[in-house]
Amino acid sequence: MPSGEASTGAKALGGWSPQGQFVAGQWRTGGGGARDVISPSSGDRLAVVNDASIQDLNEAVAAAAKAQRAWADLGPVLRGKRLKEAVARLKAHEDELARIDVLDCGNPISGMRFDVNLGATLMEYFAGLTTELKGETLPQVGGKLTYVTREPLGVVARLVPFNHPVMFAMAKIAAPLAAGNAVILKPSEETPLSALRMAEIIADLFPDGLLTVLTGGAGIGAAICEHPGIAAVGLIGSVGTGRAVLKGGADTLKRTQLELGGKNALVICDDADVDRAIAGAVKGMNLGWTAGQSCGSTSRVLVHESVHDRVVEGIARAFDAVKLGDPMDEATEMGALSTPGQFAKTRGFIDRAVASGARLAAGGPVSGVHEAGFFVRPTLICDVRPDAEIACNEVFGPVLTVLKWRDEAGLLAIVNSLDVGLTASIWTRDLDRAMRLSRRIEAGYVWINDSSDHYLGAPFGGVKQSGIGREECLAEMFAYTEAKTVTIVTSA
Ligand code: NAD
Repeated sequence: MPSGEASTGAKALGGWSPQGQFVAGQWRTGGGGARDVISPSSGDRLAVVNDASIQDLNEAVAAAAKAQRAWADLGPVLRGKRLKEAVARLKAHEDELARIDVLDCGNPISGMRFDVNLGATLMEYFAGLTTELKGETLPQVGGKLTYVTREPLGVVARLVPFNHPVMFAMAKIAAPLAAGNAVILKPSEETPLSALRMAEIIADLFPDGLLTVLTGGAGIGAAICEHPGIAAVGLIGSVGTGRAVLKGGADTLKRTQLELGGKNALVICDDADVDRAIAGAVKGMNLGWTAGQSCGSTSRVLVHESVHDRVVEGIARAFDAVKLGDPMDEATEMGALSTPGQFAKTRGFIDRAVASGARLAAGGPVSGVHEAGFFVRPTLICDVRPDAEIACNEVFGPVLTVLKWRDEAGLLAIVNSLDVGLTASIWTRDLDRAMRLSRRIEAGYVWINDSSDHYLGAPFGGVKQSGIGREECLAEMFAYTEAKTVTIVTSA
């Protein structure tokens, strides 16, 4: 089937089918190999899209460089206005975009509507921040003035993962565009559709070439990192890809923002409100939103030994009650894993944990909700050592591991033993303890008596190998700017 042609599965897409790559303001069939886009909940082929080639990339960068100058010259207020128009258009397509993501990534319709709105909120936030691209002046005398401006970097790239396709497509182009850059967006090869539809909806608001969407996998991603015409790369992805991005960008000294994975700890103390903590642990897995495929999921629960059994029972009961099913059904509480690779990886982790003696308190793989669907029930694993494979590695699926602790020193040793640190959640009624633990736990984002939620403007990002930089805040926009210092000397 040629690139972009609708397959039988495209009926589900409401008659829409992708037009290929979006380069220099035009749609074209990518010069790379053809790739099937498969729906993980049904196994239907939704579309075939040809990957972008190096030639597509080169032409995109050249067009983007031209468009960027015109966009920067528009000034902050008009750029903000255009972005707000983009928000309005995308919100008008909320249901359509959400349905594309349901089909493409397997998560329930309620979660995907939430994602369209979250993407819109973040885009609107950055649209409103353009006037904060302020500089500085230095105190000087004798007819001298030194000032510092924030300049856009030029052409920048954003590489995004499969777990929130449209949300990341919308949210991650916003800050660099607001700052006056051209953006090359590369969605995940597993879930490219909503980013392509987004470009159809909003691209005419921008100079031709300002927004590029290139699809494909690690090959075109690596070429983006190495391209001398691209000034910066912002990745949302795995730790391994983060390393590859840094290496790939080394020769051209790319500015790099990395939002990577974690194995996030949720700590339940002996004085916690146990029922609330159980609910917080279930919420922290983001099951209904992403089937646990969320970077911030608190998938490593550390429970004080005095309340361990009660917590395990409570989480198991809640997990067993989760209704899996057709993600398009409004009543479905958790959908399918997004890719065959995710399914195989998750099953592998569960099987190896059980084979090495862990207890399955809830869940385990099930398929058959749909014959071809990649469904795994929320799974609770306990009775494992803190250094067990399942307790130390990001599964990126609906799998939660429970560990026991006795004293704070031992707890902190376990929590901080990993080389990642994205989020953490602490459950206690003792404010001194909450403050003490939050200071000592190595993570970029800590909730006390809460989990999962992000707050607009609050920096999000990881410590150690969970990333470099902070997003969803002013710092994200500033990361796509460079300071320029100017000194004027007058004869006055
Ligand atoms: P991934 O790292 O496999 O892919 C992310 C993007 O990078 C995709 O577009 C992919 O095509 C591209 N890519 C892959 N290899 C590349 C290479 N060598 N060079 C350049 N680009 C390359 O991640 P994924 O499996 O799609 O997503 C899951 C991971 O993302 C998890 O580890 C998760 O924790 C992480 N994540 C982090 C955050 C955060 O905000 N910290 C948010 C969501 C997901």
